[in-house]
Amino acid sequence: MDYYFKSLKKFTFIFLFFYILGCSHQVTISEDSYVIKNISIIDPINGLQSTKSVIITDNIITKIIDNDNELIANNNTIIDASGKYLIPGLWDAHIHFSFDTDLAPYMPGLFLAHGVTSVRDTGGPIDLVVKMKDSSLMDPLNNPNVYIAGPLIDGTPNVYNNSSPSFPLLSIENNDIIDIESNVLGIVDREVDLLKAYEMLTENQFLAIMRIAKKANLKVTGHIPLSMTLFSAIDSGLNGIEHLRNFALSIASNSDELYRERIELLKNPDDLPGSDLRSLIHSKQRMKALDSIDYDKFEEASNLLASKNVWQTPTLFLYRNSAQKIFKDLSFINELNKLPNQIKQKWIKEIADTDTIIDKNSLRYSKWLEEATGKLHKKNVPFMAGTDTPIGYLIPGRSLHIELEVMVESGFSNLEAIKSATINPAKFFELEKKEGRIKDGYKADLVILNSNPLDNISNTQDIYGVIKNGEFLSRESLDSLMYKN
Ligand SMILES: [Zn+2]
Repeated sequence: MDYYFKSLKKFTFIFLFFYILGCSHQVTISEDSYVIKNISIIDPINGLQSTKSVIITDNIITKIIDNDNELIANNNTIIDASGKYLIPGLWDAHIHFSFDTDLAPYMPGLFLAHGVTSVRDTGGPIDLVVKMKDSSLMDPLNNPNVYIAGPLIDGTPNVYNNSSPSFPLLSIENNDIIDIESNVLGIVDREVDLLKAYEMLTENQFLAIMRIAKKANLKVTGHIPLSMTLFSAIDSGLNGIEHLRNFALSIASNSDELYRERIELLKNPDDLPGSDLRSLIHSKQRMKALDSIDYDKFEEASNLLASKNVWQTPTLFLYRNSAQKIFKDLSFINELNKLPNQIKQKWIKEIADTDTIIDKNSLRYSKWLEEATGKLHKKNVPFMAGTDTPIGYLIPGRSLHIELEVMVESGFSNLEAIKSATINPAKFFELEKKEGRIKDGYKADLVILNSNPLDNISNTQDIYGVIKNGEFLSRESLDSLMYKN
């Protein structure tokens, strides 16, 4: 990838103390720093603080001072950010670099161009995701920080088995516990940052993953395996659930009956491929579950998820987009100009080939996910913003901002939505003491906005510049990371 952009010239200045009118203003001035002046800071924990100067040395926020302090060094690089707002660099906590290998090389640029400075890859072939992570470690200015799960760890038949372009090879199939042990240890050896458990696992296979993860000190996220319930998966130590997948099946008044039916279906008498077997089970059970949600069980599940700190990444826009077919709107299609031409043409063709019929069940399910997200959030269940890009025609980077809008519609305050894309994913990876805030000593991955996202969450899209690893990328540099078709 040959992305290239100009960073502002950096200058050197020195350490001094400065006094004004008997009131001492200690001003830290270090070598090779940026000073962002006159900016309003939005720290995810402390909220809004106006007219500050933020000093960045190397890739760290070294000091935040009141604006009335004067910096007397001559050679500092000053960004006058009057009227602007600073938020931490954003995370997309659910992406797949390997869903479309033609798009993968362009994804890092698209993320940075949209202020997404960290991503959590939730499933793909180990060699490809390790390569994306290594590129990021070697060239942190041109890549978001990349955290990887390795492949989806699935049972048999596995769902993402390369049977069609909609089901590329994202997973590994495991027939038994011996398979699980050798495969998962192999994944752990490649220094992944988490593990992802998938839907077709047996309970014993799932438990084996949890044991290995515990020893390796790795968190496990995933879809609740169809062979289990939400309650048994959480009791076994599952740390995160993606898309609230199979949540509804466990909190319906008929959940025991659904469970028995599922176990029979999982015997797969017709020898269906994994993706078909999974769809069959979802189509037989999902709406039955929604018809009979038991709100006492919902409450019980919420309390369990909150007390065990089980992270939710609901990917709400993925479902809304596919249910309402928003991708067919002209305004949606115009955004595809940001993609390389061959990808854009492919997506436009696929979208044109899709009918306009709205499926009532999909619509109902997507609305239910938004409602459930709002309720779980109220119960203090922890959330991260994630999108599943590039699945469902979701543009890397841009889709994260739309996810934040949907989270706000679902009951998050604007600041809570920002938390879900900054400090919360940092907490998931136990990085919250050094990333995800605007505070002395924190990593300088930041986004400068032209307008206040606490007034309107869509203002996270009004990006003036991004600071990645302590380097400023102007609007012009960010635009150069996207295509102009
Ligand atoms: Zn996914």
